[in-house]
Amino acid sequence: MRIVNMFRMNIILLLMVNLSCDLAAKEYLIDSPQAYLDVAGNLSPGDTVKLKNGVWQDFEILLMGKGTESAPITLTAETKGQVILSGNSNLRLAGEYLVVSGLVFKNGYTPSSAVISFRRNKDEFAYHSRVTEVVIDNYNNPDKQESDYWVALYGRHNRLDHSHIVGKRNKGVTVAVRLNSENSQQNHHRIDHNYFGYRPTFGSNGGETLRIGTSHFSLTDSHTLVDNNFFEHTNGEVEIISIKSGKNILRNNVFYEARGTLTMRHGNGNIIEENVFLGNNVPHTGGIRVINRDQIIRNNYLEGLTGYRFGSGFTVMNGVPDSPINRYHQVDNAIIEHNTFLNVQHIHLAAGSDAERSAPPVNSVFRNNLVINDSHSHPFAIFDDISGISFSGNVSNRAVPASMQYGFAVNNIEMNNANSDMLGTALSPENAGATRRAPILKKQQTGVNWYPKTTAETAFNSGQQHHVKPHVNSLLSTLEQAKSGDILVLAPGTYIVPKLISIDKTLTLKAEHKGTVTLAFERTALFEIVDGGSLLLEKLTLSGQYSPDAAGNSVIRTKKWGLLHNYRFVMRQCDIEQLDVNHSFHFFTTGKGAFADNVELSENTFNGITGDILQLNSEIEDLGIYNAEYVTLHGNSFSQVQGAIIKLYRGGTDESTFGPHFTMTNNILKYSGKGKRNKQAASVYLHGVQVTDINNNTFTNSAPIVLEHTVGEPKSVIIGNQFHNTPAPEIRELRVNGPHTAIVEHNTFVSDDKR
Ligand code: CA
Repeated sequence: MRIVNMFRMNIILLLMVNLSCDLAAKEYLIDSPQAYLDVAGNLSPGDTVKLKNGVWQDFEILLMGKGTESAPITLTAETKGQVILSGNSNLRLAGEYLVVSGLVFKNGYTPSSAVISFRRNKDEFAYHSRVTEVVIDNYNNPDKQESDYWVALYGRHNRLDHSHIVGKRNKGVTVAVRLNSENSQQNHHRIDHNYFGYRPTFGSNGGETLRIGTSHFSLTDSHTLVDNNFFEHTNGEVEIISIKSGKNILRNNVFYEARGTLTMRHGNGNIIEENVFLGNNVPHTGGIRVINRDQIIRNNYLEGLTGYRFGSGFTVMNGVPDSPINRYHQVDNAIIEHNTFLNVQHIHLAAGSDAERSAPPVNSVFRNNLVINDSHSHPFAIFDDISGISFSGNVSNRAVPASMQYGFAVNNIEMNNANSDMLGTALSPENAGATRRAPILKKQQTGVNWYPKTTAETAFNSGQQHHVKPHVNSLLSTLEQAKSGDILVLAPGTYIVPKLISIDKTLTLKAEHKGTVTLAFERTALFEIVDGGSLLLEKLTLSGQYSPDAAGNSVIRTKKWGLLHNYRFVMRQCDIEQLDVNHSFHFFTTGKGAFADNVELSENTFNGITGDILQLNSEIEDLGIYNAEYVTLHGNSFSQVQGAIIKLYRGGTDESTFGPHFTMTNNILKYSGKGKRNKQAASVYLHGVQVTDINNNTFTNSAPIVLEHTVGEPKSVIIGNQFHNTPAPEIRELRVNGPHTAIVEHNTFVSDDKR
């Protein structure tokens, strides 16, 4: 009897303890930063702080406290998605078992080195803490070269999940796992179910989406699990993910039309499995790059990848013997098995072999992989001795190079896409290729469901059409009202524009018929492209006849300094004339810091111009920064242009970018490039351009092409051009000795000088 009573008493006590716990767990609805400070110093396990819906300006949040596994301390929004942190807001967490959710960072940028940091300062870190369902959208420092992280993970056992991270345009890794102190190492973080949306081409190093570690701590293990994340158009630079530590697992992530690769840059013993890379043949889409010891790459599915060299669909690098920690450690004991490579254009083995990187892969296996190419040839390129890679059980539908034939069966394989969730499993009797344990991740399974995953950029001509009446006020007011993607059709007539037109959205200006609409201007430029702006001009006549009588006018320019957004400029079937009121009247000039995704001039005529046509050379400090990714000149006619047709400059030795790319086809140049102010004395001046294709153009009485090769094994072809009273192209190798590497073929040279 007595025993029973004791038992009863204990139950009552337990109930009381529970009751007091519930009473202690408080919920606060906070409506000001001061109100937050009033409670923040005093949070107990189970407490929840809710921020009131609305816009919070310049709110630097510090969440500190010690929750428990069953009763964490929570900071969240009154309604998820309705709490906007803007201006100079940020978030730091320090303590244990903290959870943050539901916040949106936009319309501002962090005043500190990270938007969200899992530490208070260099001594106080977060552990067992979680940031979930948070949005960071275009929260960019207005100075593009000012570096910050959007999420910096410190401490141990932290998690970033179901967050939506899109539009990082300024310098710095989007999400960084830091190992720079002992209590951040062997950290066992998890990064999962996040949506990593558009990250535009940054235009130099520093545009990675995820980095785990740094070279300095790269022989330390991180044990970070990166799973079920969706990477869409994360195009910042060559490395989408840069692993720089050991024992990480990357599993079941999807890379969709993302330029760059998952690179095992430093650190050993990482596992890359069941990831899906879908390139859809977009340029520079890559897969996996292998460096260092004990890496396992298995059951990955890679399809439609076009990347080459270090950006290939699959790359195994050569190492540096006794490598310093920041160079390339030899590949040793790599296991590469059961991967499917479907229409992957390039698989490079022993890549980067040179005098320094002379240590080929050793003790490695490449087995049971499936390599299918619809094109006529296999994707392999071999740059050194690959006897240290043992091949077995692989299947290909094309004959492979002799040195690996012993490990391949050549079979006419058909892909079976019957179950698209599992992707093509091969009908291969040899059991080669990827198998999956789970269906492939869908975009909507990542991020949050209360914030739209919108497309990266507004396409030209995707909006409404406006008819502009034939006077300038109608033009200016329509420009004002138009929305991004809209088309302005100008009625026939001459428009003399009294002020600079600022382009801050995607717009098309066009005439119905060529030769019916003339735009002239009274300021130093007609159009200025600013953040958010892209411009397409069609069938217009652009005249400099009413421009100021001063040197240095231009028809179009970008903002003079510090453009944050990449832009596009396209012009087709326009006539450009009378850019000659004074000297150095340029057609297009770039400001410092401006970066074009695309500049295209097609079927235009340029006549009588005292400056340059495309001036894309404002980054002169040789920092690996440049002004345009793709430049295309097609079917234009240039006559009496005193400056250059193009000056495109990419200095520095960094190899983190794909561009610039320059294509010039079917153009006619007459009496161009020979003005005394054209310092380079070139009609086409290219420095450090990575891909150049100049074919089928006619140069008459013009200055030569000058092509300067710097880093990155540039690919240049100059084929099928006519040079009439024009010197041969000058090609200079500025960094490597020996003959130049450009292909210069089938050009004809004609001189009227009969001596
Ligand atoms: Ca990089």
